[in-house]
Amino acid sequence: MQRISHWVNNKVVVGTSGRTGKVFNPATGEQQAEVDLASVAEVDAVIAKSKAAFPEWRATGMSRRAEIMFRTRELLDANRKELATYLTLEHGKVPSDALGEIARGIENIEFACGIPALMKGGYSEQASGGVDVYSIRQPLGVVAGITPFNFPAMVPMWMFANAIMCGNTFILKPSEKDPSASMFIADLLRQAGLPDGVFNVLHGDKEAVDRLLVHPDIQSVSFVGSTPIAKYVYETGTKNGKRVQALGGAKNHMLVLPDADLDMAADAAVSAAYGSAGERCMAISVVLAVDTIADALIEKLKTRVPNIKVGPGTDPSAEMGPLISREHRDKVASYINNAAGEGATVVIDGTDKVKEAGFFLNPSLIDNVKPGMKCYDEEIFGPVLTVMRVKSYAEGLKTINDNEFGNGTAIFTRDGGVARQFQYDVQVGMVGINVPIPVPVSYYSFGGWKASLFGDQHMYGPEGINFFTRGKVVTSRWPDPRTSAVDLGFPTNR
Ligand code: NAD
Repeated sequence: MQRISHWVNNKVVVGTSGRTGKVFNPATGEQQAEVDLASVAEVDAVIAKSKAAFPEWRATGMSRRAEIMFRTRELLDANRKELATYLTLEHGKVPSDALGEIARGIENIEFACGIPALMKGGYSEQASGGVDVYSIRQPLGVVAGITPFNFPAMVPMWMFANAIMCGNTFILKPSEKDPSASMFIADLLRQAGLPDGVFNVLHGDKEAVDRLLVHPDIQSVSFVGSTPIAKYVYETGTKNGKRVQALGGAKNHMLVLPDADLDMAADAAVSAAYGSAGERCMAISVVLAVDTIADALIEKLKTRVPNIKVGPGTDPSAEMGPLISREHRDKVASYINNAAGEGATVVIDGTDKVKEAGFFLNPSLIDNVKPGMKCYDEEIFGPVLTVMRVKSYAEGLKTINDNEFGNGTAIFTRDGGVARQFQYDVQVGMVGINVPIPVPVSYYSFGGWKASLFGDQHMYGPEGINFFTRGKVVTSRWPDPRTSAVDLGFPTNR
């Protein structure tokens, strides 16, 4: 059985805790590897290595850091296909989806290459007589990233690119369900010339996370995962004096107005709902169809959904792979099985794949969904598109704003004025106008509102730089000794 171990000081380090987790191939349902799960002592040892590496890394010139980032970008670019293989093998996503994830991740590395220009502070000459004032940004120290199973390559890149470029040393605790991508990326960073200890990978579960959240030498925690854990990480981390950004779950609505191009809207809804088997935090899971076009839209969805080719990522014709685990597949199936009893209409039931080997489900479509039903109230995180019928734009907007999550949303319309009003009113962090998955480009920042994000800085982009640095303002004077005198009053500017 293949064993996946930690990455410390640019080397593989075999775990000593005696605890391991199982890594499955979701397309076959078979265990293919075991991953070491770190103990408290192992977490402490990695933090010590990261702390030891910090002073020299911080002192390394920004152009040298950027040079390493550029090389990392080149290596990632040259190794896209191999990295994608790990995603398909352990997560299950099909190659086109895996390559898309990698492409969006690389954009964050490209952004980080330009960070020297964005770290420039302000300078005010002669703020007072002979006094100049300027601002600088400095790294925090040892920072940690805890990532989910659904983007094993991209989400780590959201975090470590900015963290390292800003001069921090970084500990990644990837999902224990698909840990190989992080090891592959770690080795590319080594090849790019990143010094020992600047980027370490620690595999583990709650025990490792809990230690990172309380250890005094961890300065900040970036988290992406489900809402209950995000809340827990935020509360525990901040209580222990850490800066925390914790991104949680989602329930993303797509509002389709009567004037929309219904074929385009149906194509977009199907792509955004079933891509990556719905295991995306920006997946569309609810279509809000205004009554007058709801039947027509359902008809268009009904013709498209059965054409989706479900299969293992090793089959070049497959468009949608399996779910991450048997337990998760069964949980998703339970939402479909319970929907009719709650009063919804199951238009397409995808649970017929459940008996086959591998953690597959076919795409499902559920109509007449309402708040109060489990399939609406909870994040499903699977290939299930639900449709709620609303009377008007106003009711659609209210539905979105009443939802506990606020990650992404989309409106489909030809009316620019209504779209603009929607962007103004909607209580959601990332908004698409005729764009179903509005993941911001790397020079903006990613983050939801409400139960989709705990903390105040969004991830990557400019807010990522703020998160990974502290501001300092210097007030400087090179006085003429002849003007020196004692003055106990509060310093005023003159
Ligand atoms: P998860 O919350 O189960 O796990 C995320 C991380 O937390 C993993 O590294 C895991 O090891 C760790 N963890 C799990 N349980 C823990 C516990 N009790 N204590 C401490 N640490 C724990 O999430 P997941 O199933 O890996 O990922 C899917 C979830 O992530 C979905 O809810 C999805 O919406 C969300 N997600 C959100 C975003 C976003 O940007 N908002 C992006 C991707 C995924």
